[in-house]
Amino acid sequence: MAKASKKSVSAVEAMYGQNVFGLKAMKESLSKKAYDSLSKTINEGGVIDPAIAGEVAQAMKEWAIAKGATHFCHWFQPLTGSTAEKHDSFIAPDGQGGVTMEFSAKELIQGEPDASSFPSGGLRATFEARGYTAWDPTSPAFIKEGEDSTTLCIPTVFCGYHGEALDKKTPLLRSSAALAKQMERAGKIFGVKPVTKAYATLGPEQEYFLIDKSYYEQRLDLIQTGRTLFGRKPARHQQMEDHYFGAIRPRILAFMEDLDQELWKLGAPAKTRHNEVAPAQFELAPIYERLNLAIDHNLMCMELMRQIADKHGLVCLLHEKPFAGVNGSGKHNNWSVVGTDGKNWLYPGSSPHENAKFLFTLVAIIKAVDTHADLLRATVASPGNDHRLGANEAPPAIISIFLGDQLSDICEQIEQGGAKSTKAGGVIAIGADVIPTLPRDATDRNRTSPFAFTGNKFEFRALGSNMNPAASNVVLNTIVAEAIDEMCTVLEADVKAKKDFNKSLQSLLQSIIKKHKRVLFNGDNYTEEWHKEAEKRGLPNSKTTPEALKAYETEKAIKLFEKYAVLTKKELLSRYEIYMHNYKSVISYEAECARTIAATQILPAAFQYQMSLADAVKSFDAAGVSNKTAKASLVEVSTLVDDLAAGVKAIDAAVEAHDALKMKKAMLDARAAADALEGIVPADLWPLPTYAEMLFLY
Ligand code: ADP
Ligand code: MG
Repeated sequence: MAKASKKSVSAVEAMYGQNVFGLKAMKESLSKKAYDSLSKTINEGGVIDPAIAGEVAQAMKEWAIAKGATHFCHWFQPLTGSTAEKHDSFIAPDGQGGVTMEFSAKELIQGEPDASSFPSGGLRATFEARGYTAWDPTSPAFIKEGEDSTTLCIPTVFCGYHGEALDKKTPLLRSSAALAKQMERAGKIFGVKPVTKAYATLGPEQEYFLIDKSYYEQRLDLIQTGRTLFGRKPARHQQMEDHYFGAIRPRILAFMEDLDQELWKLGAPAKTRHNEVAPAQFELAPIYERLNLAIDHNLMCMELMRQIADKHGLVCLLHEKPFAGVNGSGKHNNWSVVGTDGKNWLYPGSSPHENAKFLFTLVAIIKAVDTHADLLRATVASPGNDHRLGANEAPPAIISIFLGDQLSDICEQIEQGGAKSTKAGGVIAIGADVIPTLPRDATDRNRTSPFAFTGNKFEFRALGSNMNPAASNVVLNTIVAEAIDEMCTVLEADVKAKKDFNKSLQSLLQSIIKKHKRVLFNGDNYTEEWHKEAEKRGLPNSKTTPEALKAYETEKAIKLFEKYAVLTKKELLSRYEIYMHNYKSVISYEAECARTIAATQILPAAFQYQMSLADAVKSFDAAGVSNKTAKASLVEVSTLVDDLAAGVKAIDAAVEAHDALKMKKAMLDARAAADALEGIVPADLWPLPTYAEMLFLY
């Protein structure tokens, strides 16, 4: 791979997007008619015009073959959490013992992978095993370069025979359409000049760990579950706080360099790279893009992280909590919405008119998040994230909004009947005279809030590092669409009744803030006081995945998703089934893995030590010397060995009973005994790489 040297800035420019069949490649290879039609579809969403599909397929094939591609695949996002692909070669027999390379419009537009092994949550009977993939032109086709293979990947949705969504992209596109529709109404009310379809933007900040592959290979728990099920916290971990933003080690920098370049080739705008809080933890932040594309790029990024780490003799751990007692990894979901005027409506402007749009959007989000906090919480529920949410490193399971002092002050003023001034002193006025001029960057930092306003966007911080961000954004889009819908209905009626617009807006914002201000909280979300206060305010607090997922089953959720045509009741309930099933599967394979490691690696090591102590005691006794210490050690080891053995038995019983709660408890008990043993069994007998080795030697 060509390295971009300091001198050749243009090397990056030349490399950027070289592996995507994007607008540039399309313009070069398509007729004007086909290009115009396709770029319109890309801008507005929808399906490609069949009349041009043949030409597009042909051009795409030529482009891919010139890059060495032999295969194509439909790339989709099943409900399992990762991405899926099935490769087909371009070859077609020419009837004379040779082949030609073919790719038809039909192959571009629609695929038919056997769907029977993907989870459908009962949506699809096995006799209806067929699933269909269909190209989503809003995300461009791209080239995936393997060691010795090059494949053309076509981002697609994945549906059942009757169009039921079997993936994460389908509801995302539907929810984006719902949001765009309501934003169009809002644009009309505010009298903006439409220049585009409205859309949401996303910048997902991705955290991850890198460890040396040789340690990984000796840890069955990492290999099988992605996290360590045993491991004593080392003397030094993150208490010095010296890793965050520290100098990046050369080996890691080499990895980051490769990662950036591969992402750039795919047109994914990797921007920021740095060390994170925990040792061996890092972060990548891209420049924000349109939501759908940003999610596809995040999924590619996670896949590339794994592959590129491997090339560097490292393993990338994307699990939310690979190491107990050490900071876990999250994904910060920076979300905003661009209106039909092509402007970010969460950008506090300098004119009263722009501020009216801004406050309208801000208040819509407050209303949406308070009304559907339970749903937002459900989207970040996973067995891995259960270890983070509510521990003092990630936001609590209580969803609240941080606005910062200045915006909170403005909201209070609106609530009391009209904002007059900002804390910083500027004058604000809604429309003509009631909404403040908002200085930019007025928000303070609050790392403890799950949902924080950060200048020109909201940052939903509760996502786990491993997650496809689609689910959270489906909910965000849909609940904000609902809030805007209801607000537009009020304002449209007022406009029709020829009421003063500024006054109606003011009174609408006032009533919404009154009703939903309980969700606003600027303080420290980690404190016990907040948890009590939140309970008083009636904010939901689902601590575990099974509790949180119940939000998907409520009448409120079913009505919401059906009303905005994002998910049918059947589709929604099938998701609930799949996520619950997933939760139970993860807990039980973790439990089985823990018992295997305990029984076949840790107990034998402990026995060996126990035996050598017993022999020593015997010899000392025979020699008639004092051996209080050896005796005490023998008792200590023996007790812990019994505890660990009991833990293994308890895990077995819990697995037998299919009881996830009991499995979790038994695993923790076994772990406590094992981690204590790790502190006393001689290091050369200990069978697993330690936390200190994994976190510091890379
Ligand atoms: P902060 O320091 O507040 O986290 P940054 O500017 O570093 O802010 O941005 C963090 C992430 O938010 C980046 O991925 C960035 O591209 C993204 N971001 C910035 N503006 C927007 C926006 N309008 N919509 C969505 N994401 C955004
Ligand atoms: Mg951030």
